[in-house]
Amino acid sequence: MIPPANGYTCESISLDDAMRFVLGVETDDWEITSSEGGFYDGVKVLHVHLSYVGSPGVCPDCRTPLTIHDYKEREWRHENLGETVCYIHAKVPRCRCSGCGTVTQMKVPWAEPKVTYTKRFEAVAVREMSRKPLAVVSREMRVSWRVLDHIVDRRVRMHLDGMDLNWLRRIRIDETSAKKNHRYITLVTDVDSGMIVFICKGKNSDVVGEFREWLLAHNGHPENITVVSCDFGKNYIAGVGQFLPNAHMVFDPFHLIQLANKKLDGDRASGQVNGQRLKSVRYALLKDPGKLTLEEREALLDITADNEVVAKSYAMKESLRQMYDSPSVEVAADHLARWVEWVEKEGSRAFRALAKTVRTHFDGILLAIETGVNNAYQEGLNAKVQFSKRLANGYHRSDRLSRIVYFRDSCRFV
Ligand SMILES: [Zn+2]
Repeated sequence: MIPPANGYTCESISLDDAMRFVLGVETDDWEITSSEGGFYDGVKVLHVHLSYVGSPGVCPDCRTPLTIHDYKEREWRHENLGETVCYIHAKVPRCRCSGCGTVTQMKVPWAEPKVTYTKRFEAVAVREMSRKPLAVVSREMRVSWRVLDHIVDRRVRMHLDGMDLNWLRRIRIDETSAKKNHRYITLVTDVDSGMIVFICKGKNSDVVGEFREWLLAHNGHPENITVVSCDFGKNYIAGVGQFLPNAHMVFDPFHLIQLANKKLDGDRASGQVNGQRLKSVRYALLKDPGKLTLEEREALLDITADNEVVAKSYAMKESLRQMYDSPSVEVAADHLARWVEWVEKEGSRAFRALAKTVRTHFDGILLAIETGVNNAYQEGLNAKVQFSKRLANGYHRSDRLSRIVYFRDSCRFV
């Protein structure tokens, strides 16, 4: 029964066809021969048995008509039918080609070769696993984590094997902590689509070399990479210089403001002499002024009137943030140059160090404005990784976080 292009039609069908309709086995080559229903461990279970009644067809290689050599008993986990756990069983013909002298198992329309679950089961599992932890999906779908783990593995392998990076031009390199014990992973992402193109352990300059190898192995070209956005860490900068010859470094607003906030927080903590007052304004100091509550605004005024160092560092941080609102790159360049001079002269020790960093990476900071590399994506990536960390609980593999990040990213692009 082929679905119509618009509207819907219903016609009278036999119970046998109704069952095939529900199972998604809508081909006349297979018929239902028997079924068994019952309870297993308090759960409703249905087993449906299918037999092949079509012709063996011809050999795809030499076009010789095939003959059925023997049958192999197979079983697949199918998607649940309501509360009922469902299995499909079939005797699958193994066909002989007299031309090639080979015997091969016939492909079945409801499952990929060599897997023990149907396409529909896989589709449901993928949809569920892209948004819930494995343990929850395992419980809800009444399926072992091994099967789910296999689905994740298979999908990630297909996603990575099929990855063609010929088009890649502008990338971001980020580090993120992979759970406790201070281990890090590096993520490389396409700036324009947000697609994660590479993940590996560590965060030293060698990871850029590993990325270069990965790029070459996936039809990409290191010399095509023209823009690399990253934080101010020396490792990535050194790695990009060594392994990506045509890349311009770009330092995006997120990392620069994050750095300024870190320096400001240091000045706040060291100025904290008597108790809690400075501590209580911590978040107000780091927040975008447009998002402050009235109480936070008053507390901030109180502290900045009282503490000259914190007041000045706060003004410097805010001035840096305002640089990004400049109407043109030229105005931003002028703003930034004056900012560096001001901070070098009057800034706290922490801010003078920041001015030195800004002076060193002046062009890369402005290039972020010119190329439109912005924060929105960075926040998205952090959320993605944090969410994946929660989902990764229950995956019994050492490289589980990378796999889950790839897995969720691959779901987005299907
Ligand atoms: Zn053949």
